[in-house]
Amino acid sequence: MNFKSLHNAVKDTSVMGRYLPEDRLKKLIDLAKKNQTYRLLGSSENGRDIHGILIGRGEKRVLAWSQMHGNESTTTKGIIDFVRLLSQDALLWEYVSGVLNQFTFLIIPILNPDGAQLYTRENASGIDLNRDALSQTQREIQVLMRQFEAFRPDLCLNLHDQRSIYGVGDLRVPATLSFLAPSVDTERTISPARLEAMDLIVKMVLSLQDNLPGQIGRYDDAFNESCVGDFFQKSGVPTILIEAGHYPQDDAREHTRYFVFEALFHLFKTVIKPSDPEGIISDYMAIPENHKNLRDLVFKNVRLNNTLVSIGLQKDYEIVNDREKQFLKVENVDPEQLIMGYTEIDFKGEELLINSHENDFVGEKIVTIELKKSKKMIKI
Ligand SMILES: [Zn+2]
Repeated sequence: MNFKSLHNAVKDTSVMGRYLPEDRLKKLIDLAKKNQTYRLLGSSENGRDIHGILIGRGEKRVLAWSQMHGNESTTTKGIIDFVRLLSQDALLWEYVSGVLNQFTFLIIPILNPDGAQLYTRENASGIDLNRDALSQTQREIQVLMRQFEAFRPDLCLNLHDQRSIYGVGDLRVPATLSFLAPSVDTERTISPARLEAMDLIVKMVLSLQDNLPGQIGRYDDAFNESCVGDFFQKSGVPTILIEAGHYPQDDAREHTRYFVFEALFHLFKTVIKPSDPEGIISDYMAIPENHKNLRDLVFKNVRLNNTLVSIGLQKDYEIVNDREKQFLKVENVDPEQLIMGYTEIDFKGEELLINSHENDFVGEKIVTIELKKSKKMIKI
């Protein structure tokens, strides 16, 4: 199966890049209205619509939400493409009809439309919705909880983006996708729901190995009941966190979008059936854990306070005239020089001035970099 050409055939080209405000869902909503799969689920703190797609006629019910963090749109793009695959009958009819007969999906492409508009992680009130599962103070979480109660899902998909700092193993390899079966308590007990989530993850990872070998990580499973995934898993509904990450030369995350689509394709490919519990747990644990060991750019061997350090820099984005504009930020100073860069520059013991400062630049947006001694400006 050539997934790439399948994806190209169904891809919604009206949603591209990182910035994905709610008004760009127009094409998806028009399609859903035409097919009578559209549902208006509620509104955000600032009164923006929270849209839903209800598709399929199967017994097994799947609730999926994306862009709970407004600036994390890769999984939104991926699941929109998956909805488009399910909304046509010219391609892969057997697969599509099989999935629609087995599953009913309620998909919320953008749970946080205010954050999507502002290009922020948080919602309009500055709240991280993924820490509001217990107190449920925000309208967006109230909408999600209402759907959770009414729809009674058998499976939940919590869809996010992770930063490019996440790597797999000890090599310069990004975790292009990461998965997590969230914990249900601080002891990280493997409840029946969690075991089922692990099983599905293992099957997805196995299927993805052909096209994404060695670029899949396992996300940290520390328990936090205020996180929505942990909350749902604890309530007994198998829940999977999917994190879309970096792929080399793909700042717009269009290539990663394709892998999200492929992961979803595999997830619903087979009838979900239980496997041997021991096998599931060991296979799940065998997925390498994510490390935060990578940076977009690393300055190596910079002299700082008379020792040699590495300086890690990360690309970040702001929205200017409705488009994302990239800039660089200092992420950290690493005295042990263990971080690795997708791009690296060796300064061979030179001292640097960043924004005219010798020190005190962590977290800052970079304006200028110069060699302290020669005053030579460094272009990056
Ligand atoms: Zn997130």
